[in-house]
Amino acid sequence: MFYHSKELQFNARVSKPDPRFARLLLEQFGGGNGELKAAMQYFVQAFSCRHTYPDKYDMLMDIATEEFSHLEIVGATIQMLLNGVNGKLKDASEEESIMDMLKGKATKEEYIHQAPYNPQFCVLTGGGPNVTDSNGTPWTGAYINANGDLTVDLRSNIAAESRAKIVYEYLLQFTDDPYVKETLGFLMTREITHFQQFEAALDTIVPNFPPAILQGDPRYSNMYFNMSCGEDARGPWNEGESSRLKEEWQYVEDPKSYVQATEGLTTVEPQGTDRTEEKIRKMEKEIGKQRSKEVNEANPVGEAYWSVYKPATE
Ligand code: MN
Ligand code: MN
Repeated sequence: MFYHSKELQFNARVSKPDPRFARLLLEQFGGGNGELKAAMQYFVQAFSCRHTYPDKYDMLMDIATEEFSHLEIVGATIQMLLNGVNGKLKDASEEESIMDMLKGKATKEEYIHQAPYNPQFCVLTGGGPNVTDSNGTPWTGAYINANGDLTVDLRSNIAAESRAKIVYEYLLQFTDDPYVKETLGFLMTREITHFQQFEAALDTIVPNFPPAILQGDPRYSNMYFNMSCGEDARGPWNEGESSRLKEEWQYVEDPKSYVQATEGLTTVEPQGTDRTEEKIRKMEKEIGKQRSKEVNEANPVGEAYWSVYKPATE
């Protein structure tokens, strides 16, 4: 269950209203890399771990709940940045009052033309956050990546934290408000923290590469196709040893002829690797059996429980 505490996780404050920045900040409320996305992603991923990997369940739910706390901070900040706007909107009988406040003698037409902040703040939410990105595009469950495999999900989370971090970094450049900067700095820092937590959790799963169970074909796992003409860039992505499988990169200089000569890569033999078809099948069987056993043992079919209720001990 969720239990709400009225105090924010971080003491969010603003120096003065700023409807323009409120609109930008909405990106982290209902945008594709925002706090709701992060919260929902980890929350949804957690279900498949409840009994199977209780340690990862605990972490995912803790971080999901922290992300809901960030969502609350972002929403509160947007609300504070719109202070004045929301109050004036209630004064519906006084014509042009909001225009006077924001832009002196500006006309409503001018305001609509310039769209100085999210029009939805005015005509839909009455001056508060809504679940859209900064352009008013509605939030969608399509932002959520949850694939029921921790080696996949944790990598999705590392990527999500990277994106959330840089959006804060960009946002910081659009406000001068020292209080808002303080809050954004906190939120950005926490994404750096979460990045490392997900990475550390991934490292506890052995083996964790390639993601999931199937090992991939040793004939193709270390090939680099030079798919362009002109000067060729070389680096650890196409020369030397590959990062995870520790195979020697095979540089295919002229893919067009190579594909012809190998009848569409079907006559290729594995090179620069000691992985063999036989070894791989054996690994897949072992990992598949192990993962399946973990899930089956933790989740017996029939009567099921989610929680164990114990009397408080203190
Ligand atoms: Mn966050
Ligand atoms: Mn995070």
